[in-house]
Amino acid sequence: MLKRIAKTLGFKKKRTPAGPHIVPPGSHPIVPEDISRAASDVVSGLEKAGYTAYVVGGCVRDLMLGLKPKDFDVATNATPEEVKRLFRRAQIIGRRFRIVHVRFGREVIEVTTFRAHHTSNPGKDKNLSRQSKEGMLLRDNVFGSIDEDASRRDFSINAMYYHPTDNTIYDYADGLKDLEQKTLRIIGDAATRYREDPVRMLRAARFAAKLGFELDDNTFAPITECAALLGDISSARLFDESLKLLMSGSAVAAYEQLCHLTLFAELFPQTARLIDNDFYQNLICQAMRNTDARINNRQRVTPAFIYAALLWPALIEQRKEYTDKGDSPLYALQQAGSEVIQQQIKRTAIPRRFTTMMKEIWELQARLNRRNGQNAARVFSHPRFRAAYDFLLLREQAGEQTQGLGEWWTLYQEVDENEREAMVAALPKQKSGNRKRRRPRRKPKVDHAS
Ligand code: ATP
Ligand code: MG
Repeated sequence: MLKRIAKTLGFKKKRTPAGPHIVPPGSHPIVPEDISRAASDVVSGLEKAGYTAYVVGGCVRDLMLGLKPKDFDVATNATPEEVKRLFRRAQIIGRRFRIVHVRFGREVIEVTTFRAHHTSNPGKDKNLSRQSKEGMLLRDNVFGSIDEDASRRDFSINAMYYHPTDNTIYDYADGLKDLEQKTLRIIGDAATRYREDPVRMLRAARFAAKLGFELDDNTFAPITECAALLGDISSARLFDESLKLLMSGSAVAAYEQLCHLTLFAELFPQTARLIDNDFYQNLICQAMRNTDARINNRQRVTPAFIYAALLWPALIEQRKEYTDKGDSPLYALQQAGSEVIQQQIKRTAIPRRFTTMMKEIWELQARLNRRNGQNAARVFSHPRFRAAYDFLLLREQAGEQTQGLGEWWTLYQEVDENEREAMVAALPKQKSGNRKRRRPRRKPKVDHAS
């Protein structure tokens, strides 16, 4: 593949006077059929109406590397309103960065209008251009030419435009060279670009992890000093970014990049304080390995599981405070779980459906231990049993001693009803020490008036 890129770089590439490298058909590996029908239709629809349009960004980058694009993005000189008028199922979304989603069945094409630089005196319309004191772009809706658009994109490898009709690539920021050298290079002055949008630092970690690229020195240098700017980003956007990092099949590499770039503590401050501990470190790495393996085997993964693992170290520490006070293990786990989640959602807004599932996975860790009588059968029929069992195996893989609990549950699932009962009967009698006595029920009041 790299040979093909080298070929692209070696010859047939033209450079217009201050414009892009132009890579004609046959000198690059992309063919028009690589582009989804929906994206091609959006480009041709815009062109028929007199606008210019290209596919751009990650899809061009991924196709150049022989990877399957996750989605297709289109860039055009039509404004969002003009795009919306042209397509039946189009919707303008976003305020900070207004774009149009055009739907074709289940596929969504993101159409962005070419962006321009923000001049120091951008006019009065605060919906077009607005910047915080720190330089963060609160509104990024100043439209411009394709050249300006290219220089407003994040990394050189994301600033390549492909035209499906002329089958030509327009490379504005030497992205082809960086693809060949496996380098992630931010466009422009790195610190300024991170101040404009701190999420670009997380994107750097993500692309470096996904593609196995290295950050060039200038791209890397200001990250530690800019990392805390992520505190100004909405927790909803950070949650989305955390999933892109952890649930795209390269979570191990993403976690390593996040730690290396000092960004992990910005997303998971409670956990970051504890990962010097070998067991916690093993647990997180193993959770990432398992997630990657599942994704690469096309098995289902849920953000709840990976978040449950990422916050387990904080929960264990918090739980000690309750058990030291004499609270029951289950109560301590529940309280600690709620507190840890309350802290975490300030950083990444985990939706409630996932926090509910996380709490269930955690609580079941305590219940998987209590197998006497009907307990085992009850736990087994719980809708989250499978996730909780996987979590137990994860704890064991990370080195926790559980006296063969995982193996017991593995066997329990394999045998029939009678054997399950025998397994439970063979368990040592459970100490009742931990159990709180139920208070005797009050007698119902008798209503003497009647
Ligand atoms: P993928 O879709 O595979 O995750 P991508 O590069 O396509 O990666 P998107 O989030 O789909 O990422 O964005 C599409 C393109 O928009 C990017 O390739 C980049 O050119 C530009 N872009 C996205 N986010 C930013 C940003 N925060 N700052 C500057 N440019 C951005
Ligand atoms: Mg994309």
